[in-house]
Amino acid sequence: MTNTFSECPKVTAMRTTLHAKVDALGDRLTAMSDWMYHNPEPGFEEFKASAMLGEELRKHGFEVEMGVPGLETAWPEYNRLKFTGGLSKDYDGPPGLPTAFRAKYKGKSEHPVIAIVVEYDALRGNPPFHGCQHNMQGPTGIGAAVALAQVMEENNLPGSVWVIGAPAEEVGPPAKAAEALSGYLDGVDFAMRSHGVEGRNETVRYPGGFSDRHIEQMKYTFHGKSAHAQMPWRGTSALDSVMVLLHAVELLREHSEPQFRFHWVITDGGVAPNIVPEMASATVWVRHLIDETRVGSVSPRIAKEMILKKRDQIDNAARGAAIATGTTVDLDHYGSYIPGIAVGAFNDLLFDYAVVYGAANVRDEAARVAKHWEETGYMTIRVPGISVGFGIDGITPVTGHSHESADLSASPVGHRALVLMSKVMAAIGLRLVTDADARAKIKAEHDMWVKKYNE
Ligand SMILES: [Zn+2]
Repeated sequence: MTNTFSECPKVTAMRTTLHAKVDALGDRLTAMSDWMYHNPEPGFEEFKASAMLGEELRKHGFEVEMGVPGLETAWPEYNRLKFTGGLSKDYDGPPGLPTAFRAKYKGKSEHPVIAIVVEYDALRGNPPFHGCQHNMQGPTGIGAAVALAQVMEENNLPGSVWVIGAPAEEVGPPAKAAEALSGYLDGVDFAMRSHGVEGRNETVRYPGGFSDRHIEQMKYTFHGKSAHAQMPWRGTSALDSVMVLLHAVELLREHSEPQFRFHWVITDGGVAPNIVPEMASATVWVRHLIDETRVGSVSPRIAKEMILKKRDQIDNAARGAAIATGTTVDLDHYGSYIPGIAVGAFNDLLFDYAVVYGAANVRDEAARVAKHWEETGYMTIRVPGISVGFGIDGITPVTGHSHESADLSASPVGHRALVLMSKVMAAIGLRLVTDADARAKIKAEHDMWVKKYNE
């Protein structure tokens, strides 16, 4: 196996203290994760989780601000969250992103700023549940941030540590895009995020490039005319329009390239069978993945053109469905995710430290596809980052967005994984604040991808 790992002996010594600090926080970290597992809150409504995480950071000397200033101008979608289904119908809390937060720990100097991005929303459902393991992310990130800040303080190291709380990863419109567009990340030099332990349980080296997780989110609302269902010719059914639209989407799926995914739900489908539904709506997402495509073979520009063509086709299907069934339709394009940038040099650091910390199932071959560190793309084009995840001994992979995945996060092996990921994240942070060459190399590669991104 090629091991590119090298570290200044002084840093290695500091890392021993760093481990001990994360270990000392371990019980509190897993307790917070378990609490969220038992108290899941859906996207945009994670009031208890964000308050708990913010409070924990405050206790450790971080300055914490809640919400995102300047959101109204940067993100027009913010006042339409109810319409898009981002908020539950009976939500009566404040507008904007009240569950976002930014916590800062300023060391000897402002820069480099190491930001750890954490999510805490549960999947929607009856009741909501942590099938995406976002309950683990905050504690993992806080363990790393607190330990790193303390070691930086004790050793008089330059730099700052931020923790950025990003609500509603699971529903659109994308809150992380809003944060990026509002300048929430301004000043950040490097970012890290973790994402539980689900999925493939292996440790591989990820290349740099464009990691495409391109999504367009649409909602189609049809308006017809109600009537007694025993005299249905007197009404026009908005639900019929939805059924025609969704049939068209299914036909489009067959004639789309394999890297496209179409997902939909009927958001409103009428109230009772004895009333012709006067209003019905469907939420439709189209996703472009390059998991099946070689790195770099589809540029962000081409991917964008391709996905917008699909969105046009679905819009036309909605218009056609309205004409065919005698209704009217409102089209709403409420969320957009763009391809992300992955930095190979940064991913190499992750691979090296993961191996040092005993990651399982190590395959020292480069993965075929780049790995984004966050899914909206908006943060990755501003800041180089990594998604801290690797093989964990004793974990059987589970399907994402499942109850098994939620249960795994709160199991003993899930707890062990949380502390281990926190240590690796802290170690990478320490490396970044002490190694100017590594910083320069990562920044140069990120700049190169940003330039190519717009070509
Ligand atoms: Zn998810």
